[in-house]
Amino acid sequence: MKYCQGPLCHTYDTQDRKRGPKGNKVNQTRRRSKFYYLGGNACNTQCERDWFEKFGEQALNHFGRITQPIVLQENNAWRKRYRWGFGDNEDQHYFFNMITREERNITEQQFNDNNYTLNT
Ligand SMILES: [Zn+2]
Repeated sequence: MKYCQGPLCHTYDTQDRKRGPKGNKVNQTRRRSKFYYLGGNACNTQCERDWFEKFGEQALNHFGRITQPIVLQENNAWRKRYRWGFGDNEDQHYFFNMITREERNITEQQFNDNNYTLNT
């Protein structure tokens, strides 16, 4: 079990956050075995947003900002694509270059093989 990392989680008014006997109730941070937001660390998008509001800037500064554009070039721009066949046309599997728009046909087996790459 782990706690939601949303810094304001305990401030949202829901029944499942309430604990304690009558007359001595508190609102507390949600605790679950699994979360689906903030990479498995926040209970919902609100808590995810709250976390980023408070820590996003620090996180960017800590882990390093992108200070110049990251570039997609011809040699790393190949993506596998799939085209449904219709009528007399068969399904097509191919590599597509996002820069040059070139297409190179591959077999379905090559398409499904995650280790298969083009020799470019
Ligand atoms: Zn939360």
